[in-house]
Amino acid sequence: MKYRDLLVEYLKTGVKDNNDPESNQKIVVANIFSTVGSLLTLIFGVIACTNSNIYLGIMLLSISFLFFYAHLIIRNNWFYSPYRISANLLTLSLMLLMIYLIYAGGVDGTGPLWIYVVPPVVLFFGGLRKGIRNLFIFIIIISIQLFLKDPLLINVAYSPEFKSRLIFSFMTVSFLFGVYEAARRNSYATVMKISKQFEQQAMHDSLSGLQNRRGMIANIEKEYARSKREQSDMAVIMCDIDHFKIVNDKYGHDKGDEVIKTVAELFSSELRKQDSLARWGGEEYLFLLPVTTGKQALLLAEKLRKKIESTLFESQKGTFQITVSMGIHQFQVTDDIDHAITAADTKLYKAKKAGRNRCVL
Ligand code: GH3
Ligand code: MG
Ligand code: MG
Repeated sequence: MKYRDLLVEYLKTGVKDNNDPESNQKIVVANIFSTVGSLLTLIFGVIACTNSNIYLGIMLLSISFLFFYAHLIIRNNWFYSPYRISANLLTLSLMLLMIYLIYAGGVDGTGPLWIYVVPPVVLFFGGLRKGIRNLFIFIIIISIQLFLKDPLLINVAYSPEFKSRLIFSFMTVSFLFGVYEAARRNSYATVMKISKQFEQQAMHDSLSGLQNRRGMIANIEKEYARSKREQSDMAVIMCDIDHFKIVNDKYGHDKGDEVIKTVAELFSSELRKQDSLARWGGEEYLFLLPVTTGKQALLLAEKLRKKIESTLFESQKGTFQITVSMGIHQFQVTDDIDHAITAADTKLYKAKKAGRNRCVL
């Protein structure tokens, strides 16, 4: 168990909590690839050296070092974007190794068999566009190497059939991995889109389009932390439509819905960029006003109250008007969020008791 934890920790080197899952997954794959790659090339390198295949041995050991270095880049945060540099180094080292294996033939001319490792790795680390470009460059390089018959480029006499089949099969494998990578990206984009939609739905109210309770609480937590940090004022307004039951009873539930929506629009149009508004309950709204004192919030509340009071709503039974009551609370340093909302609610209750259509600070 302990060894497993150590291995997992090693492979998760460079993973950051605030990264998106896709980026973290790529970092883990880069670590796996550099570990497996450096171990394999180390083993083959030592074997080649003991068999007195010194050039192959030196090449494999150098590549082993480069693979390990790619891991060190991620581990020690040596560059501005360690993953990118590391992934580029892994891709380049792998391609160099393959070009050398084709040149030298490896053991008994089996070296070129390893080139099929290239397409999945290049496409994974480079992404679709850059990956295809890199594969294209690689195919051109190995084609020149295989068919130019220059002893500087190739040291083994492969048969013409072997060379052409090698290139064709490599292109086929590259194409298939390209299709696979495109499909994978597509699925990922679809999942991300759906997850964003769900998040939006979970945080918003479908009737008014405003934030719902859950969205607003998340928002208050964020803003409250900020206001504490910056020692700035913050206020909340709890607002409730007066005698809303009568609107429903007299003009119908659909008209009631329309009123809730219209009031949301009228309120929203008066807010500053940093303010936010939620549908807190049936016909209840909660305003969050960062960098605002209670007195400033009261001024806004009065303006909104008057605006609603003077708005005419149309219905089949003629036009009608509504009023709202509001309770305002300025956040205190000792407040927790629940307490602040309860305080605003208590003041709303006072406004109702005092005759409605008013604001209480
Ligand atoms: P007051 O707040 O002034 O004390 O009176 P009220 O009549 O507004 O009070 P109460 O909170 O008791 O009633 C609220 C009503 O709002 C009851 C409920 O049927 C209605 N309501 C709640 N949500 C919705 C909704 O989404 N659409 C409609 N049409 N009505 C709703
Ligand atoms: Mg009401
Ligand atoms: Mg109510």
